[in-house]
Amino acid sequence: MGDDFQNTCDGINSFDIPSEMLDEIQKNIEEIIANFPVPEDNKLDVIKKINFMYSHTKYMSLTDPLTGLYNRRHFDNCLEREFLRSKRYGGTFSVAIIDIDFFKKVNDTYGHLCGDFVLREVAYLLIENFRKTDMVFRYGGEEFVVILTETDLAGAEISMERLRKRIEDNNFMFNSQLLKLTVSCGISINGNLEFASDVIDNADKALYRAKQNGRNRIEVF
Ligand code: GH3
Ligand code: MG
Ligand code: MG
Repeated sequence: MGDDFQNTCDGINSFDIPSEMLDEIQKNIEEIIANFPVPEDNKLDVIKKINFMYSHTKYMSLTDPLTGLYNRRHFDNCLEREFLRSKRYGGTFSVAIIDIDFFKKVNDTYGHLCGDFVLREVAYLLIENFRKTDMVFRYGGEEFVVILTETDLAGAEISMERLRKRIEDNNFMFNSQLLKLTVSCGISINGNLEFASDVIDNADKALYRAKQNGRNRIEVF
């Protein structure tokens, strides 16, 4: 599905259904209708309702309710698919993990609502920063990952540095309170790795180094 979906951070959560999923939905609906005695007059309404419920459930299973970004489950699937695709057809992609520095302090000082606000704002800055062909996910609490398709380490470093600077310069305003924040980032590349999970493990190691080396910085594996 990947690029056919659009991340949204505005809470409206509009998205397109990829064609292969539409075929699957159609098949399911036909099965349901075949097995239930739906009166001919109501058939169209029933189809519409099932379509909506199916799409909505699918949407919820792929996204994170707080930020509207794709979730960890969807990331695992997309990473695996991108990894297999690049193994079969060649090509390079990078993965970046972004972790908010000292985020616990935001919650502790200004409360969880403020923490949640910051997460949504960072999600928005991420979406704004990357190409539509890149995929942005909420990986965990205050950690995000990006799959940068057809992008080598040098290219990934440029876009991550742009993001790092954008967040450093951003004025986070919550209830008239100004907050300044930074992020640390680890980047890795698919290379000749054996497993998809190696790409994320390597990015995580680079992130650990970024934290150790003073935060508000990017490290490449
Ligand atoms: P570091 O610079 O080393 O990354 O420090 P940190 O404080 O960012 O890291 P730590 O892992 O100690 O804390 C992460 C915090 O993220 C802890 C938790 O309270 C907060 N958090 C995780 N998920 C959410 C969420 O959904 N909402 C809010 N408000 N806070 C969250
Ligand atoms: Mg963390
Ligand atoms: Mg953190």
